[in-house]
Amino acid sequence: MTTLPGLRHCLAAIAGAACIIAMLAGITSADPLAKDVFGAKKLPAATQPRSHGFYSKGCFEGGVAIATDGPHWQAMRLSRNRRWGHPTMVKLLAKLSRDAAADGWPGLLIGDLSQPRGGPMLTGHASHQIGLDADVWLMPMPSRRMSAAERENISAVSVIRQGGLTVDERRWTPAHAAVLKRAASYGEVERILVHPGIKKKLCDTVSGDRSWLRKIRPFWGHDSHFHIRIGCQSGSPGCKPQAAVARGEGCDSSLAWWFTEEPWRPAKGPAKPKARDVMRLSALPAACRAVLDAPAPASEAAVTIGGEGRTVIADTSGQASAASAYAPESTPPKMPIPAARPLGR
Ligand SMILES: [Zn+2]
Repeated sequence: MTTLPGLRHCLAAIAGAACIIAMLAGITSADPLAKDVFGAKKLPAATQPRSHGFYSKGCFEGGVAIATDGPHWQAMRLSRNRRWGHPTMVKLLAKLSRDAAADGWPGLLIGDLSQPRGGPMLTGHASHQIGLDADVWLMPMPSRRMSAAERENISAVSVIRQGGLTVDERRWTPAHAAVLKRAASYGEVERILVHPGIKKKLCDTVSGDRSWLRKIRPFWGHDSHFHIRIGCQSGSPGCKPQAAVARGEGCDSSLAWWFTEEPWRPAKGPAKPKARDVMRLSALPAACRAVLDAPAPASEAAVTIGGEGRTVIADTSGQASAASAYAPESTPPKMPIPAARPLGR
């Protein structure tokens, strides 16, 4: 039987414990895991498009979504809510889809761009944080429209031989090379990450203009999709550019390294946590706090880019009308300055 003083003592103890828990929670909520707060955002910040920080440590605002369906694309894994990017990125994908279709690639299956306000993700990707990265599957789009369930469950098929480092000749086609060439042809695109076996195939087979091979960068993964990275856009003074890619086609010893044992050697020692999983909000640029707090647009539809490079806005009568979602065209992108660059991306 609890006596009254005992109960009081107990209540005081509970209050004390609760107080300490609240204090600790206060500390964590003041500086939460960045992936938790950015992963929880359903809509972008309705502000001018701006990227803050670096591809693997930052956030962005003024994002737009690529529509789930366009004339020449279908977005995959819709449940992830990663169809968001800087307007330049989203417009570029729409353009690539049209150009690729004209080249003979039936359409794009679009993988992850960024979360609505970027930032680290709960799962996957170290980069894709500032609205300037997009994954496109190395599988041509089927002629039919896939259901949402199919878009969740269908797996991208690797173009690399199982257990090997070279392309599977049964899957690789000239159209694969053409879509990569087209993507690399845009001034905004600084890098395209692919499996080293894909880069090697291009090095071995591309004739005529080979200058675009410079932007095709060998990297781990990327055997069933390619990764388009555009440069920092004007209006984003806080965007940290990546070092320019090395001069030349990259078909040299830097590529040969990928066909040695070294890049594939398992890491020794205990597994380190991924940066994505431990990054606190305070590690991101200070502007990212304001990005989290910024108001959202009225709806996702208000900031979704359809096939014509325009947003589709549902008006009060339920009719869809089109309006431009972006600021006026910015100045043409600058070509990267050639500089020596270590191996990798
Ligand atoms: Zn990627």
